[in-house]
Amino acid sequence: MSIWNPWHGCKKISPGCVNCYVYRRDESIGKNASEVSKTGDFDLPVKKTRTGEYKLKKEDGVVYSCMTSDFFLKEADIWRDKCWDMIKERKDLEFHIITKRIDRFEACIPEDWGDGWENVTICSTCENQDRADYRIPILLKSPIKHRQIIMEPMLEEIKIDKYLETGLIEQVTCGGESGDNARVCDFNWIKEVRRECVRTNTRFYFKQTGAFFKKDGQIYKIDRKDQLKQADKSHYSYIPGTNEAEKIVYNTPSKENLLNRLKQSKFRQNFYLNEEDIQYIKDKGLDKIREHAKDFVKDRLSAQNPDNDGKQTPMRGHPVFKAQHATATCCRSCLEKWHNIPSGKILNEKDQEYITETIMDWIKTHGRDLGISHQNSQREFTS
Ligand code: SF4
Repeated sequence: MSIWNPWHGCKKISPGCVNCYVYRRDESIGKNASEVSKTGDFDLPVKKTRTGEYKLKKEDGVVYSCMTSDFFLKEADIWRDKCWDMIKERKDLEFHIITKRIDRFEACIPEDWGDGWENVTICSTCENQDRADYRIPILLKSPIKHRQIIMEPMLEEIKIDKYLETGLIEQVTCGGESGDNARVCDFNWIKEVRRECVRTNTRFYFKQTGAFFKKDGQIYKIDRKDQLKQADKSHYSYIPGTNEAEKIVYNTPSKENLLNRLKQSKFRQNFYLNEEDIQYIKDKGLDKIREHAKDFVKDRLSAQNPDNDGKQTPMRGHPVFKAQHATATCCRSCLEKWHNIPSGKILNEKDQEYITETIMDWIKTHGRDLGISHQNSQREFTS
């Protein structure tokens, strides 16, 4: 990876800028970050060594551009054309431009831009729902070959499923805020975006925790040096086709904890076994019903990204379906929210066994008063 800062300094534009690291760093050395000026590295992409080779090499990886400013800043309009020329000359390099000013994009592109350049990825930053709903539609309709969304610092839960469903977003990056005055980042927000990415088969990068990270209701202060490491160690990044989620450490809830939480959900409490279900279970026997449950779990839930996820379990038609909704084992999203089983993980035999048992416990418990014998019950679903 290389960094190219053609100019330095920026103007604050939205809530994500409040604790801008450029301002913080400049302040610490008595500099005013709101003054924008060209840097000595302005022509870095075309700079050459004494032997006539480019200094920036393809092997160095992505060139992150304008990291101490914003590439589409109005104050930089006079310099940008020259930058486009350099980007065009270096077709062998991959430039990533991160911006909070996607609304200036079309006014800033060169005449021969067409429907985008293959070597340019535009990353639109959105720190909250308001900025996401303003900027992402612009990102989607702009002529761009490669689009990414960056939620850093993430300031609240942000829903982007409808944007991901377009299939036009290549990657989503999430992270918290650094610095002493950093705002808290909640792991639940990160997990929610990740779930949306898994469902839509979009690459997801959990980059860093930020300085104050909320997990399981508790806020942790994370040292600067550990913010990237902690995110990396969580294995919550997601690359479609790989099974990184296999490494996520998690514990399924105790029966008591799960039952108490399910009791508080009106939706889950609405499910019950009717006469038809009971007769079906009696006719087939519990062993057969268990086989059905096992097959449904394997066929509809166990893949890394199951078909039709979120809609794969009908509301009725089989007692197991009802039990799945009642126990929140109906889709991968519910399995993560209620049972901590990460989305994007290929379910192993142990996972499948746990889910099947949870379903069967509910059926046995709810069928007991209706005359279903469950003498083989191993783990009754009772309070
Ligand atoms: S746009 Fe980026 S660089 Fe500019 S003030 Fe905001 S956070 Fe800082």
